[in-house]
Order: sequence, then structure tokens, then C-alpha cells
Amino acid sequence: MQNNCIYLDNNATTKVDPEVIEVMLPYLTDYYGNPSSMHTFGGQVGKAVRTAREQLAAMLGADESEIVYTSCGTEGDNAAIRAALLAQPEKRHIVTTQVEHPAVLNVCKQLETQGYSVTYLSVNHQGQLDLDELEASLTGNTALVTIMYANNETGTIFPIEQIGLRVKESGAIFHVDAVQAVGKIPLNMKTSTVDMLTLSGHKLHGPKGIGALYIRRGVRFRPFILGGHQERGRRAGTENVPAIIALGKAAELELLHLEEAIARERKLRDRLEQTLLAKIPDCVVNGDVTQRLPNTTNIGFKYIEGEAILLLLNKYGICASSGSACTSGSLEPSHVLRAMGLPYTTLHGSIRFSLCRYTTEAEIDQVIEVMPSIVERLRALSPFKNDDAGWLQGQEQALAHR
Ligand SMILES: *Cc1c(COP(=O)(O)O)cnc(C)c1O
Repeated sequence: MQNNCIYLDNNATTKVDPEVIEVMLPYLTDYYGNPSSMHTFGGQVGKAVRTAREQLAAMLGADESEIVYTSCGTEGDNAAIRAALLAQPEKRHIVTTQVEHPAVLNVCKQLETQGYSVTYLSVNHQGQLDLDELEASLTGNTALVTIMYANNETGTIFPIEQIGLRVKESGAIFHVDAVQAVGKIPLNMKTSTVDMLTLSGHKLHGPKGIGALYIRRGVRFRPFILGGHQERGRRAGTENVPAIIALGKAAELELLHLEEAIARERKLRDRLEQTLLAKIPDCVVNGDVTQRLPNTTNIGFKYIEGEAILLLLNKYGICASSGSACTSGSLEPSHVLRAMGLPYTTLHGSIRFSLCRYTTEAEIDQVIEVMPSIVERLRALSPFKNDDAGWLQGQEQALAHR
């Protein structure tokens, strides 16, 4: 298997940093002890886990005792939501948004069948929340507010600290899915209003199969995976030592590269976006371009299908996405773009490019080179070019026949 693709799908997953692999490998070979064991062999491993926890805590401005390892971002989201509800059994209301990741939305949907009521906050055309709507939704019955830091599809960043101040007044627990924010923008839990925060290793140049949940000291937490005493009784199961070591190193490297990476990726992203907008007629940027992750651009190309663009890009070895990896393949338009109320003409023709610190100028040039002709080819085949009403009707018919 060979890989020389131009990888612009970093919000789906990232390449593991070679330095991360290097520090992780000995814990798959020589140092296989159980960190909870009494003997020196296990103790050495326990010490390495403590160091890794310090590295991760440092990136977040957190205390080591506030970090609980999980198997992934999805587990972190699930654990935080369940824990907040278990800790306050008398409260039966949850506030979230319409644009969350399925790891939050699908938990909330299930909770609705179990006697909880859920408010799904709306977003405007830029994908931003209305803080008055948020404030109006909070009651004494609200156990939990769970809102993402940055959107995986559009990169839109929510004003988490402003939201947190309002949540605090209501007495609810505030959980933030920060899987797309950690390692991409600076975070400091010391000065934050966030009670719990979820992150995932494979989104920040660490391996798959490891994540973490930050739990602010003093926040009531009830685990939903029960067993041994690992993670101070908050997440049972023998630690995934190699992945924990890897996540520590990945966090250290992210912190080290953060400022430089933000500037570099933003410049490359902006050049990609501005050039495509200038060269290709009838396309728009989706999301809040002022409050946005530096690595993400989501562009809607009118009158054509995002999936068709992706297939042609793929022929040139360019990996992008038509939204979240979790919903693509279903051909349903993205729930995020739908919540933003985008017109049908762009809803189906939207593509996400997400960069990382390995993205090069030459790779961006290559995308700029091929995109105009791809869009032109597809539009030439589209029966609805320059015909918004016809396009809309065609899409509705196609949906009806599914
Ligand atoms: C990827 C992602 C998740 C899920 O993380 P996994 O580690 O893949 O389970 C959750 N939330 C957001 C915003 C994500 O982008």
C-alpha cells in the first residue's frame, strides 16, 4: 500500500507524528508492564503514564488529576453526558445545538426516549448561535449544557467562554466537545468556565483509540464504565499505555508548534479559499469566516454534487470531504449545513478542505490547479446550471425516490 496523496481531510483524522510513534513503540515491545502492578517493571510504566498525563495537562492548562483517559472522542462525549446526568438525577433537561457531532446528538436523541427533554439550539446562516436563545433555554431543571468548541464541518468556533458564563448562572454542568479545537487553537482551562472537555488523540497527530476527558476539580462526576480503580475510579480498565504515552507526546508537540502552525495553516487556507473563489464562479464559503479554525474551509459550489467533486479530486490523489466522515456515504445533505439554512443549490455541492502542519504550498497549488476544471466539467454535465428552481426540484425528486 502506497501513500503519496495530498491529504486535506485532517478534520476526519490526522497522520501520526513520527516522533509520537518513536516514543510509543517501546511500550508495545519491551515495557509491557501493567502500570498498576507493585513490581518495578510495572512501576516504570506507571511513571511514564504520569509523565504523559503531565504533558497533556500542560497543553490544556489543567491539573494532572483533572485528566481521565478514554478510548476516543466519542467515549469522552458519552461519558461526560452520562456523568452529568447521573450526578444530578433530579434534573431532566439538556441543552445542546443542532450542529453537534453524532457522538453528542445521538446520545441526546436516545435520552429523549428515556424521559429527558433536550433543547437543540439553532444556528444562523453563518453557523453561529444566538446567545439570547441559549439563555432563554436554561432553567433550574437543566442538568447539562453540551456544546462543541469548533465545528468539524465548517470550522466555526462558538464563543465558549461567553456561553459558559451564562451556563454557570443556571447551575448546570457545562461540557464542551473540543475534539476539533484542541491542538488547533490555544486553550487554558485555568481561566475557563468549562466543567468538562472532550478531546481525541487521532485528531491531533496522535494514534486512534485514545482520547481524554478533562473534568474540572470539584465537578461531580459519576463514571459509566465500572470495574477497577484506574483513573481514580473514573474510568475502569487497564490503561492503553502505548496510546497514552503517544497522546502525551502529541500534546507536547502540538503545544510546541501551535503558534507557528496557526499562522502557516491560516495563510495556506486563505490562499486556497480566495483563489478558488476568484477563479470559480458561483461558489461561497460556508460558516463564520471571522470565528473559524485556521485549518478549515468549507466551500459550496452551486449546481453540482459534492460527492462528484470528491471522486474527481480523488483521481488526482487529493483527499477532501463533503462534510463529516460519519455521515458521508449516506448522500443525505449535512445536518450542519442544513441547520444553517443553506439553499439547496449549495447544500449538495459543498466540500471541506482541512489542512494540518504537514500541508505544503505545492499541495495547495495542486488543488488550485485542478479545481476550476473539475467544477467546469461537472457543471457542463449538470442540467440545472444557472437554474436554481430546476436544481431544487431535481434534488427534491431525487430525495423522494430514495
Ligand atoms: C471526530 C470527532 C468526534 C469523535 O471522535 P473519535 O475519537 O473519532 O470518536 C467527536 N466530536 C467531534 C467534533 C469530532 O470532530
